[in-house]
Amino acid sequence: MKRQVPFGKPLRALLVPLIAFLFPLAISAAEQSTVSTFLAAAAEVNITPEIGVRLTGPGEPSTGVADELFARVLVLSDRRQPVVIVTADLVGVEIAYAEAVGKAIEKKTGIPHGRVMFNCSHTHSGPGASLPADDSEKSYGRDVLEKVVAATADCVDRLEPARLRAGREAAQLGFNRRMPHGNNITMAPNPHGSVVPWVDVLGLYRKDGTRIAILFSYAAHPVVIHSASTLISADYPGFAVAHLQRMLGSGDGASRVLMFAQGCGGNVNAFPLKGGLKACSRTGLVLAQAVTRIFLEDVPPAPIRAASLTVHLPLQMAPPVKECERMLAESPDDQRLVELLQIAKEKKQRTMPYPIRGFAFGKTLCILSLPHESFCDYQLWADRESPYRDTLVFGYTGGVHAYVATARAYRMGLLGGYEASPRRSGLNSRYRTPPEPVAEQIIKGGITEVWRLLDPSSRP
Ligand SMILES: [Zn+2]
Repeated sequence: MKRQVPFGKPLRALLVPLIAFLFPLAISAAEQSTVSTFLAAAAEVNITPEIGVRLTGPGEPSTGVADELFARVLVLSDRRQPVVIVTADLVGVEIAYAEAVGKAIEKKTGIPHGRVMFNCSHTHSGPGASLPADDSEKSYGRDVLEKVVAATADCVDRLEPARLRAGREAAQLGFNRRMPHGNNITMAPNPHGSVVPWVDVLGLYRKDGTRIAILFSYAAHPVVIHSASTLISADYPGFAVAHLQRMLGSGDGASRVLMFAQGCGGNVNAFPLKGGLKACSRTGLVLAQAVTRIFLEDVPPAPIRAASLTVHLPLQMAPPVKECERMLAESPDDQRLVELLQIAKEKKQRTMPYPIRGFAFGKTLCILSLPHESFCDYQLWADRESPYRDTLVFGYTGGVHAYVATARAYRMGLLGGYEASPRRSGLNSRYRTPPEPVAEQIIKGGITEVWRLLDPSSRP
């Protein structure tokens, strides 16, 4: 077969230098934004564990299923490199697990793992997920990972043109749970304490107006069921999704995914604490109603950028060896104190990794993710300081190892309440001591640096 030649020789001779001249210009124009549309796809997979799995809320094995648990995936692209948001009805995962999910997604789809966010809803009626040391061993954590990777690959295959819209609506179903009592902080509703009093929403729409996905984010512990039931449940986020499904109807017959991302709810409980299943349905309804009230504004098509940065938070030193020995003598079977004594003897400066990630959609929208049980004060600060029109701040993303309180709370020492005191959650965490007050400054510096990395003009 004769090879077709598109141009005659003289014309080709003229075009070669012309193309060579235009090529660099074409690239810089694309960089500056000629993205004509976003692409998107979403999927959900059922990750309900076997009955009997231990639940954080009741602190005992589950006896049944109130509602199924899901992992949901949203893939967004500017036709160049996609970003992936995974939300899961899990109480938490380790940083190593979130990284393993990102790397498995990279291996399967080619999307760099730095462009994957893994958010846990922190439901106290669900399990965590981890990977066994042996690669071939079957486990719940591996099952969840494989389902999420397969769902992501499926989304990449199904990417379609999408309109992206963002909005915010007032909603308060959470209350600050740190109540000053004398010099101390106790765990009780504090009407004057900080909360994030809104729900953020992203909507992805097809050309015909049908929904591809709705992602909504609120910051509060899913503890409306907690110890009131030993049934597996996604708590208020799961009920909110179910109410939204019903409220939005299925008239258009098009597939859509509704997904919840947990914000920085480290010091916020959803109301009413331990209220049970019926109360949880009502709390979910309040959130779903807020989501349906939102007016969403267009996010113009633009390049999607991603930036990641892990800062390291210095951890407090253990008490002196003698004090640790005295505490251990009082409770000789307490393994936490055995470890604390060891830490005191080693006298090493230790740190906790704090991975921060950002996705920017042009100059309009930024999704910022923070790990661990970060206080809502970080979300409020990031929202205030953000250079973007719309800013979503996720907590519990990229790994959940411990609470991260404010400098002020850490400076209260033993009186700092459950989340900040070295003898309370600090001792419960794997590190056995909480971060130093300087952690707040380091985190804010890290967030600012992620914004700088996301800004195209700061790129080399
Ligand atoms: Zn928690």
